[in-house]
Amino acid sequence: MAQAEIGLIGLGVMGANLSLNIAEKGNTIAVFNRTAARTHEFYEEAGALKDQIVPCETIEEFVAAIRPPRPIIIMIKAGDAVDEQMKLLEPYLSKGDIMIDAGNANFRDTMRRFDALKDSGLTFIGMGVSGGEEGARHGPSIMVGGTEESYRRVEKVLTSIAAKYDGTPCCAWLGENGAGHFVKTIHNGIEYADMQMIAEIYGILRDGLGLSAGEISDVFGAWNKGRLNSYLIEITEKVLAAADPISGSPIVDMILDKAGQKGTGKWSVIEAQNMGVPATAIEAAVAARSISSAKAEREAAEAVLGLPKVAPLAVADKAAFIKDLENALLAAKIGAYAQGFAVMSAASKEFDWSLPMPEIAKIWRAGCIIRSQFLDEITTAFTKAPDAANLIVTPAFAALVSETDGALRRTVSAAVLAGLPVPALASALGYFDSYRRARGTANIIQAQRDFFGAHGFDRIDGADSHHGPWGSGLNA
Ligand code: NAP
Repeated sequence: MAQAEIGLIGLGVMGANLSLNIAEKGNTIAVFNRTAARTHEFYEEAGALKDQIVPCETIEEFVAAIRPPRPIIIMIKAGDAVDEQMKLLEPYLSKGDIMIDAGNANFRDTMRRFDALKDSGLTFIGMGVSGGEEGARHGPSIMVGGTEESYRRVEKVLTSIAAKYDGTPCCAWLGENGAGHFVKTIHNGIEYADMQMIAEIYGILRDGLGLSAGEISDVFGAWNKGRLNSYLIEITEKVLAAADPISGSPIVDMILDKAGQKGTGKWSVIEAQNMGVPATAIEAAVAARSISSAKAEREAAEAVLGLPKVAPLAVADKAAFIKDLENALLAAKIGAYAQGFAVMSAASKEFDWSLPMPEIAKIWRAGCIIRSQFLDEITTAFTKAPDAANLIVTPAFAALVSETDGALRRTVSAAVLAGLPVPALASALGYFDSYRRARGTANIIQAQRDFFGAHGFDRIDGADSHHGPWGSGLNA
């Protein structure tokens, strides 16, 4: 067999599916896995695609099977494993070869790895891949960071395997070094917020309205035909409709309410805080997962405090209330996306990336977990207003916020009065309310800071007097 045009290390869930996708698009691919038995198993299960796959037992054999200059995708457990794998691989590589880390790396690790290889003649690409197992197999969204020249060398194969939205591949070069992994991190942060907001609306339907899982599934099914149409709403309809094969009950009613997390949500929040950009909806979502995981503590707290002593949710017109929930979810979602894009905009300046906002929205329209029709609207909004300070002040989204924020306000109010937790929905509302208010309340904070710490303040009239008349209360 001729030499492969690309190689892949790591035949776990993502690597195996990505390899099959690459082979299916007519590329010959060499594959290697730390545990060789997995390589054999993968090859045996590859069916008709075997002809396009070169299974390798050793790194030496693997590198020799790829035509130089070699693009090599590393799709293994994120963290130290990637450094170890790169170290094992490096002695066999030659000038011009490209190592592509396609796992969920922290973008700061990606920047470090990129810099470490800069003068070695080898090139490093940090590539965010979204879409889970199904996306990897049939078309993920691909976010690439590295030199533009190195991207051009792998563009053909990457665009061939990426998801397509109206024929356009959901794959793009986003900037140097850590740009791709940063954008993937924020994608995941937004995904956390999207999922949490859906969970809060589910909570209102279940605990406020007393609907069954099947009834709630129908609500999400109807919403999926409207403006909320998206992969996450679609799967929510499906998971709510599924029955547990053991008990026969809806499976969601049998699943423990403890959510896991692997770090990308937390990284989004940390980076947002580092840059001083509010990402309150993502923060609320990450915190909600942490509270969810403290199940035993919550059980103990409920035993001590009980549930809030409030009147149950009173709904006069159920259909109108459910319509409000739909609009509330849309409004809150706009808040979360606005925050995510604002974080990326700040990072673009901080790390000198020139992140292309319309392009990012474009490559998220298909293949990834947050894919939706809504992202097409974001693409249009940022294309028409590329310098907008925030998504919510673009004409299209300002109109959408005006149309739906009343529903979000009524929903949050009703939930709070009924004692139902809606931290992410409420944070989006608080974000709108503070972002749109020209005269806020930080004048009192500045006065306090000046009082106890002589920190000074700016005046609204521009006069040259920057300390208050606090007298002896002024402590340095
Ligand atoms: P997985 O199924 O758990 O597979 C892990 C792979 O990593 C295996 O091939 C394993 O090899 C290899 N590995 C682990 N430690 C290694 C080491 N020290 N040296 C060399 N190889 C090592 O993982 P996955 O779900 O495919 O995820 C792979 C990457 O993609 C992760 O960074 C993950 O965060 C990211 N990701 C996952 C998803 C998803 O939906 N699953 C989506 C996007 C991105 P052995 O067979 O020898 O153990």
